[in-house]
Amino acid sequence: MKTGFAAVIGRPNVGKSTLLNQMIGTKVSITSPRPNTTRLGIRGILHRPDAQVVFVDTPGIHRPRSPLGTRLNATAAGSVRDVEVVLAIVDATAAVGPGDRRVLTQALDALGGRDDPSGLLVVVNKVDRARPAQTLHRLNEAQAALEQLAADGHGPAAQEAAEFFPVSATTGRGVPALVEAVVARLEEGPAYYPEDMVSDLPEAVRVAELVREQLLAHCREELPHSIACRVTEWEGPVIRCEILVERESQKAIVIGKGGEVLKAAGIAVREQLEPGVHLDLFVRVESRWQQRPEALDRLGY
Ligand code: GDP
Ligand code: MG
Repeated sequence: MKTGFAAVIGRPNVGKSTLLNQMIGTKVSITSPRPNTTRLGIRGILHRPDAQVVFVDTPGIHRPRSPLGTRLNATAAGSVRDVEVVLAIVDATAAVGPGDRRVLTQALDALGGRDDPSGLLVVVNKVDRARPAQTLHRLNEAQAALEQLAADGHGPAAQEAAEFFPVSATTGRGVPALVEAVVARLEEGPAYYPEDMVSDLPEAVRVAELVREQLLAHCREELPHSIACRVTEWEGPVIRCEILVERESQKAIVIGKGGEVLKAAGIAVREQLEPGVHLDLFVRVESRWQQRPEALDRLGY
């Protein structure tokens, strides 16, 4: 069977995690309309009779403003070096800009020097929200950006071999063709993961991620970066999950009036867990955790 790794990279919010989930057919990675939702290099595994593809979701590549941001970029950059295929995602509804060029540069640099430089697939996502002319324009912009980067010395061979895919990660349109293109670029080899494994996330981390996803969905704009979640105890059906925030005022927002935010988040998470699970959510203030390396280590970022 054909086996190998494929990294999904792109600016924050272009739909990387949504696309990963769509390609695998299961919710492996949490998503949200807020940028910088993904913090871990999450692996999602696609199993087919003829192939096993290990997709690697990555944090959005952005201009870092904190030690956390620097670590997120390093996670994304590292994932590109160790894979056979790179899916570079751009948004059909937004012009190809400097952020996208930074993403394409990383892909070209990583693939360009290889014996086989043919691993770059450029994906124009969210075509369900774009007119056909807009999608076409975006494909042209992406191609022009790649040619310019190659002319500047970034992986000319990888640019020559690049292919382009318009898709919608939410509706699934165009995704099967993209998956076929990924599989076509892999070599014969032994499977990396057992067939029943769709993600490499430990169960406790998955639960903590689900909690964070719900808090992002329920809380106000300024909070997302300040929230971190960690399962601190798991005994039988009882899971205790700690929610870190940076200030007392944020603690009040996460809890909500009469506890309503925390309650709604808990209900939404429990619906995604095995029946009978008892989920305890606790909010704790830890000032400036985003700035502190030992806090980032403890949280696994
Ligand atoms: P990431 O930061 O690149 O991982 O982006 P996410 O996967 O978290 O998605 C960011 C936002 O874009 C979410 O609100 C998604 O629902 C939305 N989104 C992702 N893909 C599509 C798509 O194909 N079409 C539309 N309309 N929205 C999408
Ligand atoms: Mg993501």
